[in-house]
Amino acid sequence: MDINDNTIIQNYSNGVYKDPASGNWIDNYEPASGAIYGKIPNSNAQDIQEAVAFAKTAFTSWSTTTIDERSRILLKIADGIENRLQELAEAESRDNGKPVSLAKSVDIPRAASNFRFFGHAITQFASESHESVGLQAINFTLRKPIGVVGCISPWNLPLYLFTWKIAPAIAAGNCVIAKPSEVTPMTAFLLGEICTEAGLPPGVLNIMQGLGTTTGQAILEHPDIKAISFTGGTKTGEHIARTCAPKFKKLSLELGGKNPNIIFADCDYDRMLDTTVRSSFANQGQICLCGSRIFVERPLYEKFKKDFVARVKELIVAHPASAKANLGALVSKSHLEKVQSYIAQAPGEGGTILYGGNQVIVEGYENGYYLEPTVIEVQSNRCKLNQEEIFGPVVTIMPFDTEEDVLGYANDVTYGLSATLWTKDLNRTMRMSNAIQAGIVWVNTWMMRDLRTPFGGVKASGVGREGGFEALRFFTEAKNVCIKYH
Ligand code: NAD
Repeated sequence: MDINDNTIIQNYSNGVYKDPASGNWIDNYEPASGAIYGKIPNSNAQDIQEAVAFAKTAFTSWSTTTIDERSRILLKIADGIENRLQELAEAESRDNGKPVSLAKSVDIPRAASNFRFFGHAITQFASESHESVGLQAINFTLRKPIGVVGCISPWNLPLYLFTWKIAPAIAAGNCVIAKPSEVTPMTAFLLGEICTEAGLPPGVLNIMQGLGTTTGQAILEHPDIKAISFTGGTKTGEHIARTCAPKFKKLSLELGGKNPNIIFADCDYDRMLDTTVRSSFANQGQICLCGSRIFVERPLYEKFKKDFVARVKELIVAHPASAKANLGALVSKSHLEKVQSYIAQAPGEGGTILYGGNQVIVEGYENGYYLEPTVIEVQSNRCKLNQEEIFGPVVTIMPFDTEEDVLGYANDVTYGLSATLWTKDLNRTMRMSNAIQAGIVWVNTWMMRDLRTPFGGVKASGVGREGGFEALRFFTEAKNVCIKYH
C-alpha cells in the first residue's frame, strides 16, 4: 500500500478494497501542514447493507471456527502490525498530528497487543457450570457470539482504540462492521491488508469509512447489527443510546472525561511532577484519560505552580516527524478553534493563564494546527474550564485545603472516567479510591494499563466496561442450559 500526497482510501469489505457505492468522497487533511493529502469514502446505507450481507454470510463459518484457529489468526494479525510498526506509526502521525515517536512507542504497539491479548484471552474464556445441589440439576452457561456487531471509534488514538474493539469482537466469533473516525482513516485502511495477509476470512471484518452522520448513522440503523461498541464524545453517545434503544441493541459506550489529578503534599514529588507533565499534555492533551483538572494541597501549591510551569515551558511543539517534538499538531482546524475558544474564555471565568494559550507557527508548516501547552490557574471548580471537556493541551490548577474539599471538587462534574491520586498515605488512598466517582483510579501513576482489567467510566463517561473478559462478555450472549437428572 502506497501512502503518498494523494492517497485514495477505500472501504475494506468482504476481504477486498472497494470504492463507495454512493460515489461520495471527503477530503483528508494533514494536521501538521493543514494540507489536503487524499480522500476517503463517505459510505452510505447501501455500502453498509452490502457489508452486513457479507458479514452475515461469513458468520456461519467464523462462529464455528475453532478457538485455536481464531486465536492463531489474531496472533498473526498482531505480528502483521508489529512487522509494519514504522509505516503504521508514520501513517498515524500524518493523519492525526501526534509525534511519530508517540505513535511508534504507544499507539501501534498497543494495537498489536490488543490482538495478541485477545488471541490468548479467548482460549481461557470458558463456559461456566453450576451444580444445583439438592435439586438434581446441572446448569451450564454457554457464551454465544452475537452475530454482526458494529464498532465505532474516535480520532485521538486511532488504531489503538479501533483494534481494542475489533480484536475481542472477532475473537468471540462475531463478524464486524467497523468505522474509524473520518478524521483519521489511514491506519484502519492499512489494517484491512494486514488482516487479509494473516488469513482472516473475507467478511469477518469490514472496515467502512465515512462521516458519523452518514456511515455511522447507517450502522446504528441497520436491523441486523445487534450490538454497538462505541468510543467517542458524550453527545454522540447520547445520540447512539437514543437511536439504538427502540431496536434493543446491546451497547457499550466509552465517552468523555474531565479527570482530576489530585496531589497531596506527602507525595513522591519528582515522580509526580514528571508524570503530571505527561498526563496533562501527552498526545496534545487529546486523551480521554488526561488529568485536565489539577488540584494541589495548599502547602505544596506555590512550589508546584513554579516547578510545573517551568517544566511545561521546556516542552517543544514541533512538526510531528521531528524527533524533538513533545507535542505535535492538534487533529483538525475546527478542534484547534474549539480549544482556543476555551482559552479565550479563561479571564472572564476568573482564570489566569500562567503559561501558553497561543497558536504556534512552525516554520514551513504555517497552516498546521499547533498550540502551546497551556496552564490556567482557576478560582473555582464550577468554572466552565473545569466542568467541560476541552480535550486539548490545556490544564487548570487550583489549591485545596482538605481531603473532603478535594473529594467534593473531584466528584462535582458530570463525568466520571478516571482520577489520579498522589499520596504515600495508604489509609487516604483507600478512602479516596472508594469515594471518587470514576471507573478507574490511578494512585502514584497514570495510564498504566493491564489489559485484563476493566476499563470504562461512570456518569456521563459511559456505560459498560471494556478489557479482559468484560469485553468478551459484551461481545457474547449468555445462554444457560439447565439439565435435570434423576
Ligand atoms: P465523536 O463522538 O465526534 O466521534 C466518534 C466516532 O463516532 C467517529 O467515528 C464519528 O464519525 C462517529 N459518529 C459521529 N456521529 C455519529 C452518529 N450520528 N452515528 C454514529 N457514529 C457517529 O468523538 P471524537 O471527536 O472522534 O473523539 C473525541 C471524544 O472521544 C472525546 O470526548 C473523548 O473523551 C472521547 N474518548 C473517550 C474514550 C474512552 O475510552 N472513554 C477514549 C478516547 C476518546
